[in-house]
Amino acid sequence: MQRISHWVNNKVVAGTSGNVGKVYNPATGEVQAEVDLASVAEVDAVVAAAKEAFVTWRATNLSRRAEIMFRMRELVDANRKELANIVSLEHGKVPSDAMGEIARGLENIEFACGIPAMLKGGYSEQASGGVDVYSIRQPLGVVVGITPFNFPAMVPMWMFANAIMCGNTFVLKPSEKDPSAAMFVADLLRQAGLPEGVFNVLHGDKVSVDRLLEHKDVQSISFVGSTPIAKYVYETGTKNGKRVQALGGAKNHMLVLPDADLDMAADAAVSAAYGSAGERCMAVSVVLAVDSVADALVDKLKSRIPNIKVGPGTDPAAEMGPLISREHRDKVASFVTNANAEGAKVVVDGTDKAKDAGFFLNPSLIDNVKPGMKCYDEEIFGPVLTVMRVKSYQEGLDTINANQFGNGTAIFTRDGGVARQFQFDVQVGMVGINVPIPVPVSYYSFGGWKASLFGDQHMYGPEGINFFTRGKVVTSRWPDPRTSSVNLGFPQNR
Ligand code: NAD
Repeated sequence: MQRISHWVNNKVVAGTSGNVGKVYNPATGEVQAEVDLASVAEVDAVVAAAKEAFVTWRATNLSRRAEIMFRMRELVDANRKELANIVSLEHGKVPSDAMGEIARGLENIEFACGIPAMLKGGYSEQASGGVDVYSIRQPLGVVVGITPFNFPAMVPMWMFANAIMCGNTFVLKPSEKDPSAAMFVADLLRQAGLPEGVFNVLHGDKVSVDRLLEHKDVQSISFVGSTPIAKYVYETGTKNGKRVQALGGAKNHMLVLPDADLDMAADAAVSAAYGSAGERCMAVSVVLAVDSVADALVDKLKSRIPNIKVGPGTDPAAEMGPLISREHRDKVASFVTNANAEGAKVVVDGTDKAKDAGFFLNPSLIDNVKPGMKCYDEEIFGPVLTVMRVKSYQEGLDTINANQFGNGTAIFTRDGGVARQFQFDVQVGMVGINVPIPVPVSYYSFGGWKASLFGDQHMYGPEGINFFTRGKVVTSRWPDPRTSSVNLGFPQNR
């Protein structure tokens, strides 16, 4: 059985805790590897290695840091296919989808290559007589990333590229469900010339997360995962004095107005709902259809579903793979199975596929959902698209704003004025106008509102740079014998 171990000081380090997790091939349902789960002592050893590396790394000049990241960019680019296959084998998403994840992650690495320009401070000459004032941004120290199963390559890239370029040393605690992508990326960083201890991978479960949250040498936590754990990580980390950004779950609504191109809207909804088997935090989960076009839209959604080819990543024709685990598949199926009893209408039932050995479901479509139903109130995170019928634009907007989550949303319309009003009023962090999955490009920042993000700083882009640095302002005067005198008054500028 393949064993996946930790990565410390640019080497694979075997686990000593005796605890292991199972890593499945979701397409077959078989266990394909075991992953070491760290003990408290192993967490401490990794943090100690990162702390030691920080002393030299923070003093490494910016051009040298950028040179390493440029090389990393080339290495990821050259190894896209291999990394995509690793992701596909453990996560289940089809390789073409995994290639998309890597392409978007690579954008974060490219952004980080420009770090010398981003870390420029401000300078005010002659703020007072002979006094200059300037600001600099410095790294925090040992910073931690805790990541979810659904983007095992991209989400770590959201974090580590900026973190290490800012001069921090990084400990990644990836999802124990698909841990191999992190190891592959770690080795690419080694090949790119990153010194020992700057990027480390620690595999683990709650034991290691809890230790990282309380460790005195950990300065910040970047977390992406489900809302209950995000809230826990935020509350525990901040209580222990750490800077925390914790991104949580989602329920993304797509509002379709009567003037929209319905075929375009249906194509977009189906792509955004069932891509990656719905296991994307930016997946469209609810279509809000204004009454006058709802029947037509549901027909168009339904007619597209039989064309979706579900299968393992090894089948080049497959467009949608399995879910991550048996338990998760069964939970997703239960939303569909219970929907009719809750008063909704199951238009397409994809749960028959649950009989397969792999963790598959076919796409499902549920019409007439309402708040109060489980399939609306909870995050499903699977290939289930729900439709809620609303009387008007206003009812659609109010529904979105009443939802506990605020990650992504989209409006489909030809009316620019209404779209602009939507952008102004909607209480969601990432908004698409005729764009169903509005994941910001790497030079903006990613983050939701409400229960989709705990903390102040969004992830990657300019807010990522802020998160991974702290500001310092220097007020400086060089001795000038012509102006020297004793003066006990409070220093004034005028
Ligand atoms: P998860 O919350 O179960 O796990 C995330 C991380 O937390 C993993 O590394 C896991 O090992 C750790 N963890 C799990 N349980 C823990 C516990 N009790 N104590 C401490 N640590 C724990 O999430 P997941 O199932 O891996 O990922 C899916 C979720 O992530 C979905 O809710 C999805 O919406 C969300 N997500 C959000 C975003 C975003 O940007 N907002 C992006 C991707 C995924």
